[in-house]
Amino acid sequence: MTGVDGLARRHNYNQRPEAHRPEARLTEALPTRKASVACELCRREVERCTVHHLVPKAKGGRFGPTAQLCSTCHRQLHALFSEATLAQELHSIPKLQANPQVHNYLKWVRKQKSPGGFRVRRANHRI
Ligand SMILES: [Zn+2]
Ligand SMILES: [Zn+2]
Repeated sequence: MTGVDGLARRHNYNQRPEAHRPEARLTEALPTRKASVACELCRREVERCTVHHLVPKAKGGRFGPTAQLCSTCHRQLHALFSEATLAQELHSIPKLQANPQVHNYLKWVRKQKSPGGFRVRRANHRI
């Protein structure tokens, strides 16, 4: 009683990725293969995020909460605010989002193309 239909089908698709079978490669070429994560601040999907200490380590946040930020947001935050300001006033994502400067930045960045998010994938076999 273990053979659920969907499970059996998925098992077929999972045959060794390195198998040199053309049909298998077509199945593998779905564009969702790359792991992507969403930035907690701007919510864009990026290839990888950086860890931001909501309370900077220098201000006692070494073991405190962190947020996953894309590098654009992360750089922007540290460009806009000192560690003291971050620690005292902007130590959570909602507080950051409520800040007028961050708010303006977010409005701007959401209109930008995703940084490397839509990179062109080279086809396995070109015509
Ligand atoms: Zn971001
Ligand atoms: Zn940071």
